[in-house]
Amino acid sequence: LMDRRSDLASHRIKVGGVRAGEELLVIAGHCTIDPKNPNLFYETAQAVKEAGAHSLRGGVWKPRTNPYSFQGDNKSLDILMEAHRRTGLPVDAEVMDEHQLRLALDAGVHMLQVGARNGLNYSLLRAIGHAVAEHDTVVLLKRGLHMGPLNEFISAAEYIVAFGNPNILLCPRGTSPALDGYRNHPDESITPLLKEKTWAPVVVDPSHSVGKASYVPACALAAVAYGADGLCIETHIAPSKGIGDDPKQAVTPDVLAALIRDAKQLWALRHPQ
Ligand code: PEP
Ligand code: MN
Repeated sequence: LMDRRSDLASHRIKVGGVRAGEELLVIAGHCTIDPKNPNLFYETAQAVKEAGAHSLRGGVWKPRTNPYSFQGDNKSLDILMEAHRRTGLPVDAEVMDEHQLRLALDAGVHMLQVGARNGLNYSLLRAIGHAVAEHDTVVLLKRGLHMGPLNEFISAAEYIVAFGNPNILLCPRGTSPALDGYRNHPDESITPLLKEKTWAPVVVDPSHSVGKASYVPACALAAVAYGADGLCIETHIAPSKGIGDDPKQAVTPDVLAALIRDAKQLWALRHPQ
């Protein structure tokens, strides 16, 4: 199914009015929604919309290294959906198990994220594929932390697509071990390889790749130069008030707006009319 020669090769995935491949697709928002501060998320949502994002991301449940760190909160799902109602932007959240999957789908989440830690969790991939088979839900599949061979990433995507919903976005987000100084080993250079072998759009996440807000714009532009169809960028109205990754790696909406302007110019160079 993921093969370039498949019948789906001309399928266009729609997100927030944009067809992937026809325009640079931008997903932006918090790493983590703070259930105690819903207004921060509503303000970010409005600001990323004004900056030009097509979809809003916000972590409801989080895969944290430390079990005593904030793990997320079901209440944040209501905040995410309220931000959707206020802005009209489709929303994206990570699900880590079948219970969260059910809650997210019942709430009407438009895009499900499979996190880097679950890239090889075949039972979760299957459950998601099965659950979205009859819907137009989009799945953003992050590249696994330790994914080596290209085939491992493509096969993980195949697990989902095989059930019949072709709306999958492949998301390189850096691999482990990290390149000295970065959070991970930036892997936007895998983009042309993915695009040669599959028809799926590639949406690069520079935020988790480099892990520091000041490095994000360069990594995002590198991704577009490599041929990415979209970007997923952690953005926060006031990063220092954020939780999860936001204090370190979220850019502000003005940085996002400038980045989108530059990225669109580069995109246009690569896609002459
Ligand atoms: C995230 O998007 O906030 C996240 C946890 O990403 P990843 O799974 O890529 O680490
Ligand atoms: Mn994050």
